[in-house]
Amino acid sequence: MNTLLPTTVVGSLPKPSWLAQPETLWSPWKLEGDALLEGKQDALRIAIHEQSRRGIDIVSDGEQTRQHFVTTFIEHLSGVDFEQRKTVRIRDRYDASVPTVVGAVRRERPVFVEDAKFLRATTDRPIKWTLPGPMTMVDTLYDDHYKSREKLAWEFAAILNQEAKELEAAGVDIIQFDEPAFNVFLDEVKDWGVAALERAAEGLRAETAVHICYGYGIKANNDWKATLGSQWRQYEETFPLLQSSSIDIVSLESQNSHVPMDLIELLRGKKVMLGAIDVASETIETPEDVANTLRKALQFVDADKLIASSNCGMAPFPRDVALAKLSALSAGTNIIREELARSAPRVS
Ligand SMILES: [Zn+2]
Repeated sequence: MNTLLPTTVVGSLPKPSWLAQPETLWSPWKLEGDALLEGKQDALRIAIHEQSRRGIDIVSDGEQTRQHFVTTFIEHLSGVDFEQRKTVRIRDRYDASVPTVVGAVRRERPVFVEDAKFLRATTDRPIKWTLPGPMTMVDTLYDDHYKSREKLAWEFAAILNQEAKELEAAGVDIIQFDEPAFNVFLDEVKDWGVAALERAAEGLRAETAVHICYGYGIKANNDWKATLGSQWRQYEETFPLLQSSSIDIVSLESQNSHVPMDLIELLRGKKVMLGAIDVASETIETPEDVANTLRKALQFVDADKLIASSNCGMAPFPRDVALAKLSALSAGTNIIREELARSAPRVS
């Protein structure tokens, strides 16, 4: 990847309305059987096409083949009973009915590898694939077997590592683990969270990323954010741990958030995937909004280590909003690329 300040999306993009109910999380599919498979692939083609034509350099599948960023992965594992549901408090924030871990968890077969091969065959650009992180998976289940969040996290880490290695073999350039739980369970992050994440990423030649955010722009998350005060300093505790970890890239939320920008100094040496697009507001950023955020970030991260991104997934947005935001992201990034080119010393 030679592009300075490459652009990318965190993960999800809205699905076409003929595939799934728009603007809804956990939206049920509208197709079945072979038609569903074909529909998912067509949606993936559209997601790639729109990212490419709107100047996104590192392309994602837009999570077009998944209902949910955590649940869809768990559905493919044995040891989890989806009929036995319990209501738990997710990320200490909202109640959800979740499946139960009833026995040893195991990946019986690859989960996303065929989808990743399809993505690889459909674009020549670098591709990024997202997987849930071990702690966020633990936090999306009721555990009636291991009875220890840490033990279950280590089991998931081993499973994620198998999947990640196969995604790498399928040609994925960046494997990203989504760990929104890292912004909530700060003691566990220290005790075992980062170690479990490193286990999930162990031995990969592909670049590895961790995405830590304050959640999709849904009401429960927005209400929680309102309680966090004028400065969001959760990253202050996790970034030093990640800076000394084996993970290559840290993805964080910035646009319109109360995260003090200087916290990314704590990641010095790592690549920073900075959220320059708000996912909690349908207002389309201007290119200058995006450029301002990136310009501020460049005080604390070297230009060759900055990746421009969205704050989080964009699945809950109307489609035209998400697509316009992709265009704003690349237009804003171009402003900064030109500034950097002008200020670079001339070779004569
Ligand atoms: Zn997120």
